[in-house]
Amino acid sequence: MITLFKNAEVYAPQALGRLELLVTGNRIAAMASDIKLQGDCVQQLDVSGCLLVPGFVDSLVHIIGGGGEGGFSTRTSELNAVDAMRAGVTTLVGVLGTDAITRTLTNLLAKTAALNEAGLTCYCYTGSYQIPARTLLADVLEDLVLIDKFIGVGEVAIADHRSSQPTVQELARLASQARVGGMLAGKSGVVSVHVGSATAGLALLHQVAETTDIPLAQFYPTHINRNQQLLQQGFAFAKAGGSIDFTTSTTAQDLAQGEVQCAQALQQAIAAGVPVSQITFSSDANASLPEFDSDNNFVSLGEGRIASLYEEVVAAIRLGVPIATALSVITENPARVLKLPQKGRLKVGADADLVVLDEASLQIRAVMAQGRWLFSDGSLPITCVHTGVPLSTTV
Ligand code: ZN
Repeated sequence: MITLFKNAEVYAPQALGRLELLVTGNRIAAMASDIKLQGDCVQQLDVSGCLLVPGFVDSLVHIIGGGGEGGFSTRTSELNAVDAMRAGVTTLVGVLGTDAITRTLTNLLAKTAALNEAGLTCYCYTGSYQIPARTLLADVLEDLVLIDKFIGVGEVAIADHRSSQPTVQELARLASQARVGGMLAGKSGVVSVHVGSATAGLALLHQVAETTDIPLAQFYPTHINRNQQLLQQGFAFAKAGGSIDFTTSTTAQDLAQGEVQCAQALQQAIAAGVPVSQITFSSDANASLPEFDSDNNFVSLGEGRIASLYEEVVAAIRLGVPIATALSVITENPARVLKLPQKGRLKVGADADLVVLDEASLQIRAVMAQGRWLFSDGSLPITCVHTGVPLSTTV
């Protein structure tokens, strides 16, 4: 399919102004002020009044569900591919989490394959919360080198009562395997780190960097907006060269207990002089979000939502963060950490992963992934290439 976007206000995510953008097959073929094309096979789409931005990159999703910390009935559900499409997410990374006993890496790989079949670009991490890491082959190194879809390890838990309480040496050894595996396979080999609420926070990661040759950038700590103290530790970590990730799924109770909403955390980071290029958002979708009453009795179980990823970007824009800056935390920044140069940016040669946003409301109007339309809200004249039927929902 050939699609020519006309009259778009393009954010790459840098603001490029009004451009025409041509998609052929699964790639962006041209971006220029005037592209001349004709023929029956060309779909010309007037997107006046819209922003054209890169498809969103979500670096942490419990694609086969998570939870279970309150007994088997608190296990959460799998990600629905349609929910990702509607949320503008075109690239995502699946993880296990706390439970690597009833949730398995084989199941994670199968779901990863299913999401790719649905038209998304999905990768996953080997390992889980625990060290030694649970792996499919002999170790993390083999998993990264030999299994295509594994691009890193994690989320490994630290500063949390559910972690395996790893030592500096254990964490360093895991990071070295991830680093070498990433180098050999041309992948990021990143160590995704779940950071809990214990006061130690990121100390263990600094100790690894101080006592070995492994740089802070090997680690990718998440949930940094869990509380104000961890947020400040995260700012120092990012200023020292690491990348930090904020979690967009939250509950009213989490906020009452000190979690900093992502939009505000981003605003604080900018004010504190943290390089925005070192900051990302992820949804933690399908993780369990338990609610407790004032006596700490379990009340209900919520689930992280993938739609929260872009909702928090919109919230940040409403707080005054420039559009390009806000978009970068769910596009080019995570793509760079994950070493996915085809993703997260609008440029010639990149994968044609695009989100069409309403300029006024910033609502998602349509989503294209690798040149295929995956979602339309019905407001644009987008028709199915196979049937000619207007797309008013996901295909
Ligand atoms: Zn986590």
